[in-house]
Amino acid sequence: MTLYLKNTTFIDWKTLEFHSTHLAVSPGIDGRVELLDTLPSESELNDGDSILDCHNRLVTKSFVCGHHHIYSALARGMPPPSKIPQNFSEILEYIWWHVDKTLDKEMIEASALVSALYCIKNGVTFVIDHHASPFAISGSLETIAAAFDRVGVSHLLCYEISDRDGDGPREQGLQETADYLSSGRQGHVGLHASFTVGNELLQKAVALAHKHNTGIHVHVAEDRADQEACQKDYGQRVLERLRDAGLLDLQKSILAHCIHLDEAEKELLRNSGVWVVQNVESNQNNNVGLANCAQLGEHIMLGTDGMHSDMLRSAKAAFLSGQAVEGIDFDGIYRRFRNAHTYIQTNGFSGDDDNSLVILDYNAPTEINADNFLGHFVYGLDSSHVDSVVSCGKLVVKNKKLLTVDENEILAFSREMGNRLWEKMKR
Ligand SMILES: [Zn+2]
Repeated sequence: MTLYLKNTTFIDWKTLEFHSTHLAVSPGIDGRVELLDTLPSESELNDGDSILDCHNRLVTKSFVCGHHHIYSALARGMPPPSKIPQNFSEILEYIWWHVDKTLDKEMIEASALVSALYCIKNGVTFVIDHHASPFAISGSLETIAAAFDRVGVSHLLCYEISDRDGDGPREQGLQETADYLSSGRQGHVGLHASFTVGNELLQKAVALAHKHNTGIHVHVAEDRADQEACQKDYGQRVLERLRDAGLLDLQKSILAHCIHLDEAEKELLRNSGVWVVQNVESNQNNNVGLANCAQLGEHIMLGTDGMHSDMLRSAKAAFLSGQAVEGIDFDGIYRRFRNAHTYIQTNGFSGDDDNSLVILDYNAPTEINADNFLGHFVYGLDSSHVDSVVSCGKLVVKNKKLLTVDENEILAFSREMGNRLWEKMKR
């Protein structure tokens, strides 16, 4: 079942070298890509082999979203909240916690399917998601995983466990996480954020992560309110609290945002080896400030925080906002965009091997080569150029058409579930 990509311009995502070549892409979670001078003839093809003509197309490694929230997918266009939020805490209370508490299993399935659909059409073949549905927890992660599998998106999921809704949802969140990780699926132990996680839960979460040899995925100092609550309740800074609980010893941990850290916390983070995910559009939308990620070390990747599913857009936003905040350059933003592959591979997660590729229809108005690729990456390439997508060696989008599922059926289902969600939120 080899997929041959004929007449490509292949760009090695690590070296940015350009190769005029054919590619042989082998299937499976540990599949490879081989550069070929000549293609096999028709008679040499095996059953199930196929050839895709990529003349005038750029082929390179596909993309990863380092922090997503499928639970917010049905929020687009929903009626305004009962009170217009005045700060980050009220944004959570009146918008996101109202949405996630209303979700049921069918709405979660629609949210996951439509998120996966947008991801894959934008060339994103791997998603690290942070899910919440406090009154539909049991089985939610497997529902999301099955939806992602159907579309053809690899994943690293977690349930964001919290004390915010009381003992019941907290215990169910722990149980859901234990069940999911015990089932053989790869994932994280998710926590919402320090200000909604008590000490007992924090300890249980760290123990659970140790047991399953994974990390904690948590929001950290997204808003000042997280630090203020930590000072008030525990007399220490958020990162110090997480360190004392052993979270920073878990090298697979992912800390989203990390905006309001002091110098001592930044040093802790730089020395820890854990990973940070930057989500600048969400930060600007919530008006919580922007991090100077250059001060947080090298382990920085990019996410969308559920705002959308387009990683090229996230990279551009981080580049533009990074001009004022940290003076980031082309190399810096490209490294950050690609760091998620390093995170996945060095931590032994599967689903992001060399056989996940994006085929770009980028008819450049100026010459493009290894020396100036990053200029095209920052100012030219966008998701409209994603023509076809190969995920784990399988062609899943061909000439902008999704091959794995019926796109119109998924959109109709998500619209139906969106209406049902909005109606239920009025009650
Ligand atoms: Zn988030």
